[in-house]
Amino acid sequence: MKKIFAANWKLFKSPKETREFFAQWSEAFKGSKNEVVFFPSAMSLEAASTSIQKINAGYDLSFGVQNAYFQAQGAFTGENSAAVVKELGGKYVLIGHSERRQLFAEKNELLADKVAFTQGLGLVPMLCIGETLQEREAGQTKSVLKTQLTAGLAKADKVKTLVVAYEPVWAIGTGKVATPEQVQETHKDVFEILSTLGFTAPILYGGSVKPDNAAGLIQIPHVDGFLVGGASLEVPSFQKICSAI
Ligand code: PEP
Repeated sequence: MKKIFAANWKLFKSPKETREFFAQWSEAFKGSKNEVVFFPSAMSLEAASTSIQKINAGYDLSFGVQNAYFQAQGAFTGENSAAVVKELGGKYVLIGHSERRQLFAEKNELLADKVAFTQGLGLVPMLCIGETLQEREAGQTKSVLKTQLTAGLAKADKVKTLVVAYEPVWAIGTGKVATPEQVQETHKDVFEILSTLGFTAPILYGGSVKPDNAAGLIQIPHVDGFLVGGASLEVPSFQKICSAI
């Protein structure tokens, strides 16, 4: 199965910096069967779209938005429209990143609407799930993930494409990567929960993925790619991660 390497740029990179990044992005992956995806900040989406269109990639190179509302337009001040992402040639909507859940109080029910709306537009939702350190230490990881998946996918179409990103909250931006054993066990659990719910989806791992741990993590069963924050901001480190397999 192809692997998906996704870059979450959070609130980094202006349009100018985005163009500079893609000017450096080499064609090293020509012919690759894997996919590379960029999630720039909303205000740099058009710069990413234009830059990506100029690259004659020769492999699956795409982009998406880090968050979008479940309406295409209307009186929703400050929100992003997935319909505009589609117009710009984007493919994905990142939904339920732990920073959205924690800092912006996004709940599973809202995320379910976003997943369904994204699929309805013909875009691909990348639903993020993950437990806090407290939940892991209390032995609640599997039940937390089950709740997030069951509620987040409550309105999803089982036939349409979906990607899931497992990101332990305690490993995001902390430099603390989950151990290979934790990744293996949890990805197996996520795979089983998805199967029980009737979904098949690539499962990405996210949480302090770096060039030096990517090659080991990508070999783990049910790890179908990565969602990378910090290490995706510089061309050399993200290209090394994309070369992990
Ligand atoms: C993320 O933002 O989704 C993420 C995994 O960040 P980092 O790679 O920096 O931990």
